[in-house]
Amino acid sequence: MNGTAHAAIGAATGFVVANTMHTTPFTILFLIGLGCISGLIPDLDIDGKLREKITLSHELIRTVAQLIGTMLIFYSFYEGSTKEKWIGIVIGVGIIVVSSWIKQKHMLTITGIGVISGGFTLQETWLLLLGIYILIASLIPHRSYTHSIVGILYFGLIASKLEASIGIDGVFYTCLAAYISHLIADIKLLPFNKRGIKLFLPVSSKEI
Ligand SMILES: [Zn+2]
Repeated sequence: MNGTAHAAIGAATGFVVANTMHTTPFTILFLIGLGCISGLIPDLDIDGKLREKITLSHELIRTVAQLIGTMLIFYSFYEGSTKEKWIGIVIGVGIIVVSSWIKQKHMLTITGIGVISGGFTLQETWLLLLGIYILIASLIPHRSYTHSIVGILYFGLIASKLEASIGIDGVFYTCLAAYISHLIADIKLLPFNKRGIKLFLPVSSKEI
């Protein structure tokens, strides 16, 4: 199923959860938005539009890294002792060379690492766990672990930490239900899906 359909089903899920909560109009809107995002999350493992939308341009990151490398070379050349000079220059050249290999497909991995450091800095467990999710999703094949019970449990953990952190009722159920709605919409039983999902990874890799 395509991204728009997943986002719409996720948003509807958020609306249903919000209506069982008898909550404020702001919270209803918030849960609809959260459902929409959660309904898209499992497809972060695709090399597609969704990845490009949440990641920065690789040219920007490459340029920043190369500037840092160049500055490091100049700085160690003028400021360091003989030994520091050489270490600084070698590291600087290393940064420039490695960053020239950065391609758009690496950007989701870099985003995951960025979100993890954000989680550490802000001391937000949900953000740290989300960063780990993004990092792993960027490295595994499409429709594998993000579309499995393991993925549901892990995302549920992120959702429970998010709800505890922001203190809005319904966050946990919205995220979880929207995530599960994505997996249901991707199963092979539905006539428009050619491929199914490997729900029982790593125990079984049978597609359902
Ligand atoms: Zn999917």
